[in-house]
Amino acid sequence: MRKLDLHWQILIGMLLGIVFGFVMTYPDWGAEFVQDWINPFGTIFVKLLKLIAIPLILASLVKGISDLKDISSFRNIGLRTIGIYIVTTVVAISIGLILVNIMKPGNGISEETIAQLEQTYASDAGVTSKLEEASRQRESGPLQFLVDMVPDNAFQALSDNALMLQVIFFTIFLGISMLLIGEKDAEPLKKFFDALNEVVLKMVDLIMLTAPVAVFALLANVVVSSGDPDLLLALLKYAGVVVLGLFLMIVFYSLVVATFTRYNPWTFLKKISPAQLLAFSTSSSAATLPVTMERVEEHIGVDKEVSSFVLPVGATINMDGTSLYQGVAAVFISQALGFELSLAGQLTIILTALLASIGSAAVPGAGMVMLVIVLESINFPADKLAIGLALIFAVDRPLDMLRTVVNVTGDATVSMMVAKSVGKLGKPKVKNWDDHLDEVR
Ligand code: ASP
Repeated sequence: MRKLDLHWQILIGMLLGIVFGFVMTYPDWGAEFVQDWINPFGTIFVKLLKLIAIPLILASLVKGISDLKDISSFRNIGLRTIGIYIVTTVVAISIGLILVNIMKPGNGISEETIAQLEQTYASDAGVTSKLEEASRQRESGPLQFLVDMVPDNAFQALSDNALMLQVIFFTIFLGISMLLIGEKDAEPLKKFFDALNEVVLKMVDLIMLTAPVAVFALLANVVVSSGDPDLLLALLKYAGVVVLGLFLMIVFYSLVVATFTRYNPWTFLKKISPAQLLAFSTSSSAATLPVTMERVEEHIGVDKEVSSFVLPVGATINMDGTSLYQGVAAVFISQALGFELSLAGQLTIILTALLASIGSAAVPGAGMVMLVIVLESINFPADKLAIGLALIFAVDRPLDMLRTVVNVTGDATVSMMVAKSVGKLGKPKVKNWDDHLDEVR
């Protein structure tokens, strides 16, 4: 009998996890049972993915750069990548702002609901920790991000997933220097990184064998940990605007893929769907990165020279879903709390949400921390920030899951565009994922 495709297996795991989570909300001991006995399997899976992220970036980026003919082609890839990332993010924020201004989800929210949300969440540990984190981020100067990008200890950078940009900086530096010393002298090092790259890709395959079970655990835990269902309903219109915006972004990427790369958008979505499903289940672009890289390189045919740079950089700085959400949330909170937002204010949101999404870490809930900075940029009253976050907190996790899918899809789209523009979009190595998994088994 033919085995189910991987994305179906993951999808079934997710659905069963959701159903199981719902069932477990009934018995008193249910939530605790899921947290103690089911969730650890999801956590182990996320840890395994994070475990291989840095070795994968290191090996594949060094390989990508040291395979180049000369350095100027790398500069070409770099400039295109950053340029396209900025454009897609501005498109995302604009879509969000247009929708939220037309649909005005904040106007329909009653005083009682606001009071109830404030009472439930304004002094919740989740909200206060986001405010504290935001105030730490705010203290840094305008060029701090450049300073932060340069490591002073390569091994320290390589030992911390949060320092992804430092790893990229060090790896590019290493790769370029390898190019400069010439093929012959760099040969042993190149062979080492080539082999490391192959091994880590195999590790991705092995980890993915457990994905259907892991997503079951992750989603069951999300369901038992979610908030009051009545409050979720009150925020339905706001959540609907974000979801519609995110959906339009997926349509936008499909059009971009079809027009710029002449690739069938359905095939594109199907091939990256395991990465999208994991983005949804883990809410973290960083944890999903190894799978995104594997899918884009092996299944779509983007050359390593491009994907090994575009995807890790994208996971860190390109967050279209997050920026769209930040735009919608900032306007929604202003509408609900009666804060007047001028046109200049809305334009400021475009700029700050662009910067805020670049600054958001690729981990669950990071977009909400940077939302505080967006709200501050439009002079939103500081004493109402906690209420503002309380308004959207109840639905943040499901929206985080969905915006992470868009973040990951955006990175994959841009990697294809850049690859196509420099003639590096070739044939995929793996035609059928199941044959591939059978090999692994
Ligand atoms: N969870 C998102 C990501 O990892 C970031 C966010 O919007 O909170 O891409």
